[in-house]
Amino acid sequence: MSQAGIHAIVGAASRKWMPKKEWLLLGVVLGNLFPDLDNIAVAVATIIKSSTEGLHRTFTHSIFTILALLILFYVVSLLTKNPKWTNFGIGFGIGILMHILLDLALWFNGVELFWPIRFELNFWSRFVTPHWLEILLETAEFLAFGLYFYLLASLARRQKTDEDYAPQVRGQGNIQIALFILFTILFFLPQLGVRTIYGALYLLSLFFAIGVTLRMRKTIETF
Ligand SMILES: [Zn+2]
Repeated sequence: MSQAGIHAIVGAASRKWMPKKEWLLLGVVLGNLFPDLDNIAVAVATIIKSSTEGLHRTFTHSIFTILALLILFYVVSLLTKNPKWTNFGIGFGIGILMHILLDLALWFNGVELFWPIRFELNFWSRFVTPHWLEILLETAEFLAFGLYFYLLASLARRQKTDEDYAPQVRGQGNIQIALFILFTILFFLPQLGVRTIYGALYLLSLFFAIGVTLRMRKTIETF
């Protein structure tokens, strides 16, 4: 997996090229985060001891999902008579597409781009990930969340938006960096059985990143 925080940073960084429309950029950042929510399905399957096969990088990483969501948000905008939902839907679609492209380019895994049609596009199939790199790619989830929170905090300070909340986000960034260091050490030690805790903290951080994005939408959309 490419780290969710990297996706969020890329989404936020794209603001220089995005048209200035309300909720569009919010959609882009959330769309970049959304596909990795399929890890909830992986977690549930793990807990109930069912197969996790075909759950990650499939149904949330598909061109057809993007089309379905575009239609959904368009219908929502008609029903609520609020054109911002159309902006959000377009942004969300762009965000998911960016996520898929980055996943394909980075980090040695394939994506089932046309799910439910089972076809995996993988530029890395000949590459065998060494164990140490596998560990770092996982623990770097926390590092990437930390960098994303630092980015939001510094944008907030520069733009004088969400000033009351920025110090808290910076503190959360520090926690993420600490988790990155802690789990890197733990994972390199022989089998300690901390995987479940890691998985729970990862999902918690992902939900938190989505919450922070919504809370700081003003910071994200001011440019
Ligand atoms: Zn992904």
